[in-house]
Amino acid sequence: MDTDRARGVLCGIACGDALGRPVEFVSASEIRAEHGQLDEMIGHGTWNQPAGTITDDTEQALCIARSLVEQHEFDPADIAERFVAWYDSNPFDIGRMTMKSLSRLKHGDEWDEAGQHVWETSPEGQNAGNGSVMRCAPLAIPYATDRERLVEVSRQSSQITHADPRCTYGCAVLNLTVAGLLEGTDTPLQDALDSVGSDAPGELVTALQPLARGDSLDTLETSGYVVHSLQTALHDGLFAENAEEAIVTAVNRGGDTDTIGAIAGAVAGARFGASQLPDRWLSAIDEVGELESLATQLVEAE
Ligand SMILES: [Mg+2]
Repeated sequence: MDTDRARGVLCGIACGDALGRPVEFVSASEIRAEHGQLDEMIGHGTWNQPAGTITDDTEQALCIARSLVEQHEFDPADIAERFVAWYDSNPFDIGRMTMKSLSRLKHGDEWDEAGQHVWETSPEGQNAGNGSVMRCAPLAIPYATDRERLVEVSRQSSQITHADPRCTYGCAVLNLTVAGLLEGTDTPLQDALDSVGSDAPGELVTALQPLARGDSLDTLETSGYVVHSLQTALHDGLFAENAEEAIVTAVNRGGDTDTIGAIAGAVAGARFGASQLPDRWLSAIDEVGELESLATQLVEAE
């Protein structure tokens, strides 16, 4: 596997996350009024952090990547433990379902119980956020050539906090797409949808099928609903001319900027490689050295 593309997955998540962080929850028109086009790492804004600060998206992707490297396999209980340790560090940004699930895990739930319980007790409209899709892409590196196992580990990684099938299959479809890009296939999203077939929720497939055909969409939503976030991020990640454009386009749409930027970044990073991510972004992010080293080790673990 091309290690530049693998590094691109992890660094792409961080770039989208850190670029989007200061404008999370801000609308596209407000971003335009304040920044023109936001394409530099800036400080303050939402969460009032220094330029280049990553958030929960990259923090949890790091938990998954570190676990894969240290355990030499997918170990959901170990990943859950790392999520809880991160939760105990009092992160400034954490999603609602993640917080509830990690709280239950901390108080003794098994890795496959907490997310299921939170899902079953959450009403429609609050039960299928993007909190697992945003962090799952590291799994696509070591499991790129074993599609069946990639679907399984992607779904299980989601289930730790997000058990809704739109989330679990959202992770599977994203990771199959990223794996296809890492392997240099021609139609990664279509192949991903074909792989999950009728097991995947219709709502998810319907939203992504036009993109798989290569149809650009005029209306793209920027909410934290997993189907919206994935549709918008895959659109920008797959259709942009280069990695910077993919991430800048995703973030400047406003809304859940850091997460849609992170997912678009994983896709664009796999397409173009870390060498095509702007140096001025990478040098602003403290975690880039570790992300690159983890990506290289995940390629070796393949
Ligand atoms: Mg975030």
